[in-house]
Amino acid sequence: CVDIRSVHKFYGDFQVLFDVNLEIAKGEVCVVLGPSGSGKSTLLRCINHLETIAAGRIYVNGDLIGYSERNGKLYCLAEEAIAAQRRNIGMVFQRFNLFGHMTAIQNVMAGPVLVKGHSRRCAELLAMSLLERVGLADRARQYPSQLSGGQQQRVAIARAMAMQPDVLLFDEPTSALDPELVGEVLETMKDLARTGMTMIVVTHEVGFAREVADRVVFMDQGRIVEKGAPESVLDNPRNPRTQAFLSKVL
Ligand code: ATP
Ligand code: MG
Repeated sequence: CVDIRSVHKFYGDFQVLFDVNLEIAKGEVCVVLGPSGSGKSTLLRCINHLETIAAGRIYVNGDLIGYSERNGKLYCLAEEAIAAQRRNIGMVFQRFNLFGHMTAIQNVMAGPVLVKGHSRRCAELLAMSLLERVGLADRARQYPSQLSGGQQQRVAIARAMAMQPDVLLFDEPTSALDPELVGEVLETMKDLARTGMTMIVVTHEVGFAREVADRVVFMDQGRIVEKGAPESVLDNPRNPRTQAFLSKVL
C-alpha cells in the first residue's frame, strides 16, 4: 500500500532523511519510534508531499506521490493532482486541528461535502456512523470547545476516516493529551487497526506498538536503523541506539 524507496530529504544544507526504505502492505500497522529530531514527522510529511524529497520515490497504492515519471524522468504534478493524491492519505496530528466554529458532525462531514462533493444527507449518514464508531454519537452536535482533548482527537480520527483514505498517518496523536485521556484514543486506533485500516503511527506508546503493530521501525538521525516485528525490535533490539531509547521509554 505504501512503498518508500531510497528517500533522501534536505532542509537547506541539512540532510534530515538518509536512504529511507519502508514498505507497508494494505491493512498493516507500522509504528515509528525514535528520539526527538530523528525525522519521524518529516517522513510522514513526505508521504503526503507536504515536503518535497531530494531523491527516491514514494508510492501510495501504486501511485507515485508528487510526480509523474516518463522515460526515467520525474515531472512535478500540478497542484490539483497532488490534492487528489492527498485525499487518499489521511493525517491525524498531535493537536486536534478541528474547525472550532463547526460541531463534531460538521467537522466530519466537511471533507466529503466540500472536497468530494457528496450530498449533505449522504455525508451526514457516513459522519454519524463514524462518530458512533469512535464512541461519540451523543456528542455529534457539540463544538470542539465543549469536548475533552481525547474526544476532540477521536473526532479528528473520524474526520480523517470520512475521506475513506488508503492510509492513515498519525503523528504523535496522544502526546498532547492528559494522561487519563490517552487510553480512549489508543482504543479508537486499535479498533481502526482491527477493521484493516493501513496505518503509520509515530508514537512513544510502546504498549500500543507491542499490541497493535505488525511492524515497528526505529529511526535515528534520519535513518531507519532497525525494523521488524514488535517482539524483535522492542524485546531484542540489535542497534545500540534502539536499546538506549527503549531503556528510557520503557
Ligand atoms: P519529534 O519527536 O521532536 O517530533 P521528529 O523525529 O518528528 O522529532 P522532525 O520534526 O522530522 O523530527 O525533524 C527532524 C530534523 O529536521 C530536526 O533536526 C529538525 O530540527 C529539522 N527540521 C524539521 N523541520 C524543519 C524545517 N522546516 N526546516 C529546517 N529544519 C527542520
Ligand atoms: Mg515529530
